[in-house]
Amino acid sequence: MEQLPIFVDLKDRKVVVAGGGAAAARKARLALSAGARVELIAQLTEEDIDELAARPNMRVRRGRVGADDIADAHLVFAASEVEAEDAAVAELARAANVLVNVVDSPELSTFSMPSIIDRSPLVIAVSSAGVSPLFGRLIRQRLEATIPAAFGNLTRFLGSIRERLAERIPDLRSRRRFLETVVDGTIADLVLANDEDRARQQLEQSMDQFLADAHASQGEVYLVGGGPGDPDLLTFRALRLMQRADVVVYDRLVGSPILELVRSDAERVYVGKKRSQHALPQEDISQLLVTLARQGKRVLRLKGGDPFIFGRGGEEIELLASEGIPFQIVPGITAASGCSAFAGIPLTHRDHAQSCVFVTGHTKTGRLSLGWEALLQPSQTVVIYMGLAEMAPLMADYMRHGGSADMPVAVVENGTRPNQRVVTGTVATIADNVAAAGMLGPALIIIGTVITLRDKLAWFNEPAAGDAVAAAALGAEVAARP
Ligand code: SAH
Repeated sequence: MEQLPIFVDLKDRKVVVAGGGAAAARKARLALSAGARVELIAQLTEEDIDELAARPNMRVRRGRVGADDIADAHLVFAASEVEAEDAAVAELARAANVLVNVVDSPELSTFSMPSIIDRSPLVIAVSSAGVSPLFGRLIRQRLEATIPAAFGNLTRFLGSIRERLAERIPDLRSRRRFLETVVDGTIADLVLANDEDRARQQLEQSMDQFLADAHASQGEVYLVGGGPGDPDLLTFRALRLMQRADVVVYDRLVGSPILELVRSDAERVYVGKKRSQHALPQEDISQLLVTLARQGKRVLRLKGGDPFIFGRGGEEIELLASEGIPFQIVPGITAASGCSAFAGIPLTHRDHAQSCVFVTGHTKTGRLSLGWEALLQPSQTVVIYMGLAEMAPLMADYMRHGGSADMPVAVVENGTRPNQRVVTGTVATIADNVAAAGMLGPALIIIGTVITLRDKLAWFNEPAAGDAVAAAALGAEVAARP
């Protein structure tokens, strides 16, 4: 984060605004609206300052800003829009350790002003840390359109029922859950429609029901597919449950852009494998889900791709089912779909492949025991998950079982991520090509004549080209074996 967003209580505190034009007037108004005592100091003032000067908490003084003016101030706005003057004020403020914002000059400022969506007491601030204020404003416009004006009322209403809720539903987690039903349901609708009396009646009834329902405080598990890496490829449901979870249990394939979308105060439990560490055994993960859910938590089991495709999701829900823990399953885009779309390789095609099989290149014994006869069918695309580490023996086996050495192969590493790389070749050459590229995975192997379509199709979806250095820095990991 470039800057730390905070909200400052300025009630009855001194704010100095240096400047007498429109920019200074805007800052003064903002500070006044937050209850500050504003001292506007300028050599020259323009007309619209006169209106401000009459306000109760406002003082206007002709002259230059001095160290004394700043000493007891909480914030300073340098808004004369004359570069040298603003720089001098900024200098004084820095010397006195008072936060200063210089209009249109992030490099001289020690704080920046966000674009503000004001639904007081609910306030949303958008900042680009001065990098692109215009873009910040654009985002603000979008948010303005989606957040009803009456959300201010709703926030006040929620404030007014806070004590009542705490009294009747003392457990914090249950209370949070109840509040969700308030915000998403009839009670909020009534408040937004300005009918607070009915909202309060409804609230009491809903609390009675909630407290009578034993299940309301029971934990549950969300088994969610997080897709291959690009957060844009999450489903709406995945995102909703990610925002609702009390705890997230995730493994190595789930990248940080996805993890960042999980509720920020959710507890995070990593169960994947780092190079030096062993993964938590599957039985322990399943048991962990049961234990956390028994504590009444909403447990997000977040997996790369789809939970039911080489994801061991089936094993996890078996235990949940036998232990009577409620669960939901949310499918995700599996690596084969993500990689094929982002590398421009259709998995089936009228002229090339009428079927497509997904197999794992990794087996418990370490020796490949794929059903080669089934894999070597004509007009078929073969997608191998977890095959990178066994690349050379896999290709040798392919040829030994009668497969063509010239069959095209593509290996997609970090599919759909900014550091995606694609290496192509034939069954005979691909292992060397992959070794030469230094691929570390996660990577998917695609075998079939559909690869030849890539040159025609890979013009659009491919993410910004990753280079070897970035790949090495980001993906210092060996082929996945969850
Ligand atoms: N459930 C996951 C697969 C887990 S197995 C899914 O549906 O996608 C792990 C293997 O998936 C990796 O070894 C790799 O072969 C493949 N994989 C997962 N994410 C990938 C990605 N972003 N790019 C390439 N391969 C990926």
